[in-house]
Amino acid sequence: MTHDLFRTDAYRTTCNATVTAITPQGIVLDQTVFYPLGGGQAGDTGVLVLADGSELPIADTRKGKDADGQFTNDICHIPASKGPEPLSIEDLCAQAGLAVGDTVTARIDWARRHRLMRFHTTTHLLCHLVPQLVNGCSITTDYARLDFNMTDALDKEQLTAGIAALVAAAHPVTVGSITDAELDANPALVKSMSVQPPRGSGSVRTIRIGTATADAGRVGTPAMIDYQPCGGTHVANTSEIGAVVVTKIEKKSATTRRVVLGFAG
Ligand SMILES: [Zn+2]
Repeated sequence: MTHDLFRTDAYRTTCNATVTAITPQGIVLDQTVFYPLGGGQAGDTGVLVLADGSELPIADTRKGKDADGQFTNDICHIPASKGPEPLSIEDLCAQAGLAVGDTVTARIDWARRHRLMRFHTTTHLLCHLVPQLVNGCSITTDYARLDFNMTDALDKEQLTAGIAALVAAAHPVTVGSITDAELDANPALVKSMSVQPPRGSGSVRTIRIGTATADAGRVGTPAMIDYQPCGGTHVANTSEIGAVVVTKIEKKSATTRRVVLGFAG
């Protein structure tokens, strides 16, 4: 079981950790700042700094899986293979001198992660601008795409202007949680047909953009923009998104419109 520090603090870039396992799936730590691929968001890259100061590059991060292919609570850090001959993860660790029980400093590639955070929060802004169900999502460092289940056309310039206005309005983005029962009572909160919120632990993590409903409409308080279950990492304020634009709108199928996001300039 890996304690996931990014869940409560997306801005944390390093942590000390102990290696609890080295498996064909990756290096498992007791706690980490590395986000594993999930909910459309790419896994983090970075380094593990060993006790002697040497750095083991991490090329990707994934959730652990058991023999049946079900996700476990382990987070697997996949070391980068350097030579022409791809080495096994066990061999890469042996070569680097890393063993179970060792203490390391885990450090993510923050510039890369921050781009993922800016894009991820923008996809939630799109959910506000396009109130349709989502049936696909991919967030990478260079672009993000969100597929909406809809037949009407979308306007690229109009959506870009909509995003810019929400970025300029500097809405706060806050992490919260609701119980499984609350979520079951409010099925409309789930805006994705492709990614189901992880239930079973009793509560589901939520991301809110703008202020709570109770404050909405009061003079001087901005309304709530978006609220949905999400396990990803987000910027703390929409102003931090900066210049993100819609680069393309594609008709993926008769009932799917794809919105592609990119950084301006
Ligand atoms: Zn999300």
